[in-house]
Amino acid sequence: MSERSLIRVGVLGGGQLARMMALAGAPLGAKFLMLDTDANACGGQVAALMQADYRDLDALGRFAAQVDIATFDFENVPADSAAWLAERVPVFPNPRALAVAQDRMAEKSLFRELGIGTPAFAAVDTLDQLREAVERIGLPSILKTRRLGYDGKGQYRLRQPADIEAAWAALAHGQAQASLILEAFVPFDSELSVVGVRGRDGEFRSYPLTRNWHQDGILALSLAPADVSDDIAARAVAHAKALADALDYVGVFALELFEQGGALLANEMAPRVHNSGHWTIEGAVSSQFENHLRAVLGLPLGDTATRGHSAMLNWIGELPDCAAALTVRGLHWHDYGKSARTGRKVGHATLRADSPAQLADALERAGQVLGRAAQVQPAIAALRV
Ligand code: AMP
Repeated sequence: MSERSLIRVGVLGGGQLARMMALAGAPLGAKFLMLDTDANACGGQVAALMQADYRDLDALGRFAAQVDIATFDFENVPADSAAWLAERVPVFPNPRALAVAQDRMAEKSLFRELGIGTPAFAAVDTLDQLREAVERIGLPSILKTRRLGYDGKGQYRLRQPADIEAAWAALAHGQAQASLILEAFVPFDSELSVVGVRGRDGEFRSYPLTRNWHQDGILALSLAPADVSDDIAARAVAHAKALADALDYVGVFALELFEQGGALLANEMAPRVHNSGHWTIEGAVSSQFENHLRAVLGLPLGDTATRGHSAMLNWIGELPDCAAALTVRGLHWHDYGKSARTGRKVGHATLRADSPAQLADALERAGQVLGRAAQVQPAIAALRV
């Protein structure tokens, strides 16, 4: 019997996002090759993994020769490498979308062009420019690196004028020039995200909005559908669609928003499947991972409707007790196969229920059983209003 040839999907980055993509892709008849700088990247436990630097063109050439199509689990792949790869194999999303999302200035400028509100912002390359930007934008504000920031890394919160020099020192690392952005601090009522998907033919779909709570800049808890008005949801989805169309985006992406008194301000976009969409594995008809693959493979998009109400708890640093967690009705466990380390996302759990009241009860029980009462509390409060 001759071996059946499966569609070969290459993923730049081999972390938990690539891992969950591969798990969703097997039923679609896809097999995966991941490329990561870490030979022990957790995606390698469920698919083939190549270890190489993203700038290593020999390795990228070997990668391209072994895949039919390529995508990302990591947005900080050098844009040049993505463009080089795109000359050899179809790459989705396109490298321009990646380049825009890699630079907070380019990203916020595009939001502005599309009429999507943002916190006030200014490019900052020198200490003098930081002083001027603080004059203009005011305090409190947040100084961020333009590139390579994630999970709250590369950020410094300024509360008073005396913080200016310390903020500069923290992010410029003794250099006279640095590529930074100052943003007004938004005293938001809630953080929301739109996880959207756009197909190769331009069809756009989005999941219902997700409400998110961060701790120390890292996502800790998500609730879907978010407890927002239809008007807010419609505006958020319209923003996501405008963004995807403007970038000729193909695949899944997330648009992160602050909601303050009914106004929406865009924080950033992630050009990939997103942590705030993990609940879709059990909580939506087709998951974000399946839909990403459907989009990049040119297949019809899947249904983004919810199955009831879901909450996602991130496990950061270390996993709680799996057996205890599995006693909670409606809880689904996701262990990424990573070793414990402070601040590292090592797994998550999704709780799915048929009503907000049932979900609140399940969250309460999960909080008690796992000693995570504080982590689940904001979602319980939102569900019980
Ligand atoms: P980021 O890396 O930009 O996604 O920021 C991580 C988290 O820091 C966000 O999800 C917010 O909780 C917080 N944050 C970032 N920027 C701002 C801002 N301009 N105003 C208020 N909070 C912010």
